[in-house]
Amino acid sequence: MNSDPAKRIYDIQQFGEFGGVNPSITDSSTYTFLEGETMEETFLGHMEGCFLYSRHWNPSNKYLADALAAMEKTESAWITASGMAAITCSLLQLCNSGDHIVTSVTTYGGTYAFLKNWLPKYNIEVSFVDITNLEQVKNAMRLNTKVIYTETVTNPLLQVSDIPELAKIAHNNGAKLMVDNTFTPMIFSPAELGADFVVYSMTKFINGKNDCVAGAICGSNEFINQLSNVNDGTAMLLGPVLDPLRSSGILKNLHTLHLRMKQHSKNALFVAEELQKLGQKVKYPGLKDHPQHSLHNSIMNNEFGYGGILSIDLETEKRANEVMFKMQQAGVGYLAVSLGYFRTLFSCSGHSTSSEVPIEVQKEMGLSDGLVRFSVGLDNDIEETFGKIKRCL
Ligand code: PLP
Repeated sequence: MNSDPAKRIYDIQQFGEFGGVNPSITDSSTYTFLEGETMEETFLGHMEGCFLYSRHWNPSNKYLADALAAMEKTESAWITASGMAAITCSLLQLCNSGDHIVTSVTTYGGTYAFLKNWLPKYNIEVSFVDITNLEQVKNAMRLNTKVIYTETVTNPLLQVSDIPELAKIAHNNGAKLMVDNTFTPMIFSPAELGADFVVYSMTKFINGKNDCVAGAICGSNEFINQLSNVNDGTAMLLGPVLDPLRSSGILKNLHTLHLRMKQHSKNALFVAEELQKLGQKVKYPGLKDHPQHSLHNSIMNNEFGYGGILSIDLETEKRANEVMFKMQQAGVGYLAVSLGYFRTLFSCSGHSTSSEVPIEVQKEMGLSDGLVRFSVGLDNDIEETFGKIKRCL
């Protein structure tokens, strides 16, 4: 692929109220109308460009939504107060009681818990599959399947989803494909590859500062209008709106995302290759022996690399904890969950961000007890950082 999401963001011109180079921040929860009739029309969803109440839409979130829709090449986008809100609102908008979802068994632990523990309470059934096994995906499809759900690069096993093939399977069965692209903004453009909806935790790479929690949903005008419908829109009625001050901060950070992704990818590839030379069991989609390395190559956007996330299997939790303790002491980065930060973060997935997944399922999917996930930072001297990592192993 040779899509340039960075250029699409660059081409957007958004000005502040007094000619500011940054759009103005809207510090209002409600908006005045000159006439009552216009207010009613806005409630009915007929007044494009009019704002009525900030839980519904607000100008700061609209600027960010427009930039994200440009990045993803979707008609529209919606901003949420967390990645989980983006995922849950989208799935609840698409599925009714009696519907069925096919999902990758490897997803972020919170997503897994929502699919496994929460949706069945509302009679929405979920089948968990190995998303790299397309026959298994096909066999899991039913007449009432509404959505195939996956992460482009899965958390934490770093499997690469074959978006074009999954889109075909979904569409041949009258379903939609929803993709969480949190690990790989810029690197993949899932909507261009056939996905119907792209969701993000913007808490991670998109914002890149670990100073707030936020999410986004990118999709068609029709879907975004459904989400914001005052009568039955999940985003409108469940109400996970992001504060305008935060969205204006994220918009500014979005403009450096392409540079950051390149540096994260460059550093992660270096660390992965060096770890492999040391004989460590390392997983990184940029390594030639990664099972989906060539798939990644065939669907990635050129120039942004293979992303900032890698993992090493230290086999036991005890060893993982020892190494992580030493790495934090040595200044490699921080022993913390989350990812996409300018400093390196590391955590033992099975005992943190995937702890919602039962141990027997972790074993089945190949998630080792000592798997340490790294979100490699923007270090200018990654060789020096790697020297520190090496001394801790
Ligand atoms: N999707 C992925 C891949 C994640 O890793 C996470 C959080 O770690 C989420 C979604 C949830 O995002 P948030 O914490 O912003 O709700």
